[in-house]
Amino acid sequence: MSDTRSDIRGDAQTPRMSATLAAFDAGLAPYAAHASQTRGRRFAEPPPAARSEFQRDRDRIVHSTAFRRLEYKTQVFVNHEGDLFRTRLTHSLEVAQIARSVARNLRVNEDLVEAISLAHDLGHTPFGHAGQDALNECMREHGGFEHNLQSLAVVDELEEHYGAFDGLNLCFETREGILKHCSREHARRLGDLGERFLLGRQPSLEAQIANIADEIAYNNHDVDDGLRSGLLTIEQLAEVELWQAHYEAARAEYPHIEGRRLVHETVRRIINTLIVDLIEETSRNLARHAPQSLDDVRAAPPIVAHSEGVAEQAAALKRFLYRNLYRHYRVMRMANKARRVVKGLFEAFSDDPRLLPPAYQTPDEASQPRQIAHYIAGMTDRYALKEYRRLFVVSDDV
Ligand code: MG
Repeated sequence: MSDTRSDIRGDAQTPRMSATLAAFDAGLAPYAAHASQTRGRRFAEPPPAARSEFQRDRDRIVHSTAFRRLEYKTQVFVNHEGDLFRTRLTHSLEVAQIARSVARNLRVNEDLVEAISLAHDLGHTPFGHAGQDALNECMREHGGFEHNLQSLAVVDELEEHYGAFDGLNLCFETREGILKHCSREHARRLGDLGERFLLGRQPSLEAQIANIADEIAYNNHDVDDGLRSGLLTIEQLAEVELWQAHYEAARAEYPHIEGRRLVHETVRRIINTLIVDLIEETSRNLARHAPQSLDDVRAAPPIVAHSEGVAEQAAALKRFLYRNLYRHYRVMRMANKARRVVKGLFEAFSDDPRLLPPAYQTPDEASQPRQIAHYIAGMTDRYALKEYRRLFVVSDDV
């Protein structure tokens, strides 16, 4: 295949450069994912000239259309509710920051962990989990909708950037990290990528780190955004051990500060505690299982983990957020509106696919619902609202 793909732009290999490829892996632990040992891409390409294979993946993700859309996709608060709340873009950047800190300490591949972190939410629908649940319901008869699989579809098929292939043609290890969960049914259809779900094996440490960094990021920024929005109060948070201990420590160290500054001093302490605990417990697990290679990591039980005490504290914070923020009546109202929009769009397009932009229309009736799901999943919050108005509100905006 490679001889027919000479049109792939840039990164032509030169003999002088080839020596540097292995150099990108210098200093990595033996159990890290080594870019020079990648299981490769779906379509063979010449190796990159001045960066590692995983750096190339990260760069392709940053330059993708789906990545830019994350700026206008909801985390908890819909984009137009305020300029300072997290979006999926800032969330993804925070995940990457946390994951890289952990990866560097454990001498595993920072470039891979960054690529996985930046890509992990590319398949999210507009309006966060409410949007995903609604689309999943709409797709029930047609194979369902799951944002992990959608993220994979974005990088494998949907991005239109390169002459030689659809998608971003990322390395196996990056795709493996993006596919966090997967049903056995889907796993059977995914070939080597689905294998681990059938065999009960783990992904790389880099994928495991990105997964927990995701939780650390959203637990903390949702507390911060919840307070900023006024939906949560400091008084309520007193019941959360992890919060209260650090809140008191921050006040003891800086008795004169209050408001946003005190919240931030508390949140940064929580994030730091979680990161340090994750590094320490994972180091203990590495010593216990002593993996000598990435294959050993895949065969071992999950290695990246919090200590028992901190895991319980983090779980309590998560439960608090479910009760008090994600189920807050104002968040529920937005979620309800989001469901209506997603379902309304899906029904209108299913009833008459001619309403779809031509790129999503297909003469194959059986695959039409999936095309509609791809179209809706790709929408930003505000694009979905606009499209809804265009379809359902009688005005001169067509
Ligand atoms: Mg996430």
